Amino acid sequence: MNPEVASEASIAAAVRRWFSNAWDPDLSLVEWRTRLLESGWAVPSWSVDWFGRGLPAWSDAVAHREIRRAGGVATPLGVGSWLAAPTILEHGSDELRHRVLRPALTGEHTWCQLFSEPGAGSDLAGLKATAVRDGDTWIVNGQKVWNTSADHADRAMLVARSDWDAVKHAGLTYFVLDMDQPGVEVRPIRQMNDHASFNEVFLTDARVPHADVVGTVGDGWRVARATLAHERRFGFDRSTRFDEDAPGRVITEARAEADEYNKTYVWYPQRQGRADLLVERARSGGRLADPLLRQDLMRVHAAQKTAEWTAERARVHRDLGRPPGPEGSIGKLATSEIARRCNDLHARIAGADGMLSAPHADDPTHVVVAEVLVSTPAQSIAGGTDEIQRNILGESMLGLPKEPAADRGRPYREVGRSD
Ligand SMILES: Cc1cc2nc3c(=O)[nH]c(=O)nc-3n(C[C@H](O)[C@H](O)[C@H](O)COP(=O)(O)OP(=O)(O)OC[C@H]3O[C@@H](n4cnc5c(N)ncnc54)[C@H](O)[C@@H]3O)c2cc1C
Repeated sequence: MNPEVASEASIAAAVRRWFSNAWDPDLSLVEWRTRLLESGWAVPSWSVDWFGRGLPAWSDAVAHREIRRAGGVATPLGVGSWLAAPTILEHGSDELRHRVLRPALTGEHTWCQLFSEPGAGSDLAGLKATAVRDGDTWIVNGQKVWNTSADHADRAMLVARSDWDAVKHAGLTYFVLDMDQPGVEVRPIRQMNDHASFNEVFLTDARVPHADVVGTVGDGWRVARATLAHERRFGFDRSTRFDEDAPGRVITEARAEADEYNKTYVWYPQRQGRADLLVERARSGGRLADPLLRQDLMRVHAAQKTAEWTAERARVHRDLGRPPGPEGSIGKLATSEIARRCNDLHARIAGADGMLSAPHADDPTHVVVAEVLVSTPAQSIAGGTDEIQRNILGESMLGLPKEPAADRGRPYREVGRSD
């Protein structure tokens, strides 16, 4: 198919044609995804040398939609296919791509992101986990934190400081870390909503072969920014839908994979505030005639509509292959604001009952509301806090002066140590 003239309809038709010949529900999930990868329809926007067809950026979403509609299974959910694979495609050596991309896209390897540290979240480039080269191996020591799914990941995207004498951003290197080794200890963190979806990770003489450096030594900040750019792509679809009665091994294994994946994210709808429950909760609580409440319900509705249009603009930009604009940060801020307003409204509607987390016989949404009240704070932290989104918009979009920084232009050894 000629990428210049490919239309959505022609790509969708080509995917349907391929699928009707290729689909075999009795394959294993990995066998099916291998077939999908080799066809070029798993990631059609990638180059023909790397599992793709050189089609436009939006063709991935079209192919996945058609495969799902036809009752099949596309690439796995999660940061392996969403963040690690595109980063390694863009910055990894050919040898690393050969080893790492296929299992990330078949789901044989699941991934986590080891970026944040106790003293380096918003100021990610200030991280202190240290990698020291020893021949063909790097030895890594330090602590990471808030690492979603690290307790069951096979591989990690790891950023560590490989040169303390370089300036802050120039001393970092990006690695692929094998999580299954004695130097990696993962401790789940229990959150205030009682879930434990992220972890602390302690690295004690953890080992990484030099061949698993992504990009070049000292260029880790540029590679990490590529991962963050993929993470801020607005509108990532985390949904998994399988026909309950669909037969076959592929579907059974995909359903089990999705169930396992979704355990981590089961509270994520609550962290967005559950605006969908507000009107019904107000009605069943006899509060729908309250004029102040009605006014605020409409404000949430208006904010949601505006955010949807921003997301749509971001999607069109992405599909046209344009670099990310301000929509990612604007959309992220809007989601935080909507979550906060929903939290406030749910609390006002539920009153003191909102503190009860036990199921209510006459109202099954009760537990969900209690979970909303303790989950929405995460919305304005994960993926870059509200303040950081405002800094990004101010500096890179409005051209405002950068924040003063005491650590600019000096070896990080002189400014970065607090111990
Ligand atoms: C649900 C969830 C999942 C996550 N998953 C992962 C993961 O898988 N892997 C991973 O590595 N990390 C993960 N994180 C961590 C996340 O990236 C960090 O929490 C985030 O970057 C903020 O860093 P911090 O928590 O260290 O807060 P800090 O950076 O310490 O910020 C504290 C407060 O200070 C404010 N602040 C900081 N700097 C500035 C500034 N320059 N200007 C104005 N205000 C500022 C912040 O906005 C915030 O209000 C996750 C977090 C959440 C909530």
